Amino acid sequence: MRSIYLDHNATTPTRPEVVQAMLPFLGPVYGNASSIHAFGREARVAVEEARDAVAVGIGADPAEVFFTSGGTESDNAALTGVVRSSSGRGNHIITSAVEHHAVLHTARFLAQSGCRLTVLPVDAHGQVDPDDVRRAFSDDTVLISVMHANNEIGTLQPVAQIGALARERGVPFHVDAVQAFGKIDVNVDALGCDLLSVSAHKIHGPKGVGALYIRRGTPFSPLLHGGSHEAGRRPGTENVPGIVGFGKATEWVLRERVDQAIHLNALTGALWVGLCDRIDRIRRNGHPVERLPNTLNVSFYAAEGESLILSLDLEGVAASSGSACTSGTEEPSHVLMEIGLDPRLAQSSVRFSFGRDNTMEDVDYVLEILPSIVQRLRDMSVLV
Ligand SMILES: *Cc1c(COP(=O)(O)O)cnc(C)c1O
Repeated sequence: MRSIYLDHNATTPTRPEVVQAMLPFLGPVYGNASSIHAFGREARVAVEEARDAVAVGIGADPAEVFFTSGGTESDNAALTGVVRSSSGRGNHIITSAVEHHAVLHTARFLAQSGCRLTVLPVDAHGQVDPDDVRRAFSDDTVLISVMHANNEIGTLQPVAQIGALARERGVPFHVDAVQAFGKIDVNVDALGCDLLSVSAHKIHGPKGVGALYIRRGTPFSPLLHGGSHEAGRRPGTENVPGIVGFGKATEWVLRERVDQAIHLNALTGALWVGLCDRIDRIRRNGHPVERLPNTLNVSFYAAEGESLILSLDLEGVAASSGSACTSGTEEPSHVLMEIGLDPRLAQSSVRFSFGRDNTMEDVDYVLEILPSIVQRLRDMSVLV
């Protein structure tokens, strides 16, 4: 049977070159990067090479890049770290309603412990209005966090505009760039951000490793307490194999990014056009132009999303009915609700997220099998 992976926003296959680069560090090169002897120094050199690669990838100084256990930790550390060290200045946080739960749930947690929280709405394409940002700032605002690209619908936020507004007000700006990194240009100076989260496993690197960029001078207190690893900002013996893999994955994704954007855009474009030709009563979610090249989110009226995913899976196609974190629950996606879909339509949605190994044949195969799947589910549906 065919096996077609169209769920790259959930995670990506680890590149063979990345696995190769990691292997020595899972075996013979086992030194602790903090040790001063030869074993330690070898690990240290590898970690610093990876730090340089990630820094180049986001246009930062390597001294401002700190390795973490992934995007979730980076988001948690960014929000909590700034808020905790700003207590004298205020306790107001601004974020958007379509953030990844790693940001949204952290913001809500901080609100439960006394912070004032403003959650900005988005328009029908999933974008925040910079005017809303301007109005939300107040004298006690200590942090704004808005994502670069949405993981479910691919919409890009006006992050550079938001960065400029934050800069005017002197408010630290955090950007969750986990989905944007490697797919579009991500540059901390162009975005005007003070903190930025990235994750290795979304760019063909290993799971369980990521980084947080913290601009020099940004108020920050660490989430974890312990040794002086990562300049004290993230104590704990470094995950050397993971970090090495992250560095290698970054080098590759940067090298291929521009070509891949064209390739991925062609695949999502062909799938959407093909679906429109073959299936009626569908809608595309997210911004038509300001979006990630690899992501296509489609609602199929009167065809339940989880059933679509399971039927596709039976035919060898892996897609997602929302973010990976919400699959298996009955809750409709918060992102699709926020762009104004009614709950039933939100639950009739499929996210196709493509990657470098996908081909036009994969698109053709989906177009071959999906119309009859949708028809069968609609025939069974009481909503038709
Ligand atoms: C995947 C993802 C995260 C979480 O990253 P992990 O490394 O899986 O913890 C955070 N934000 C966005 C936008 C993501 O897509």
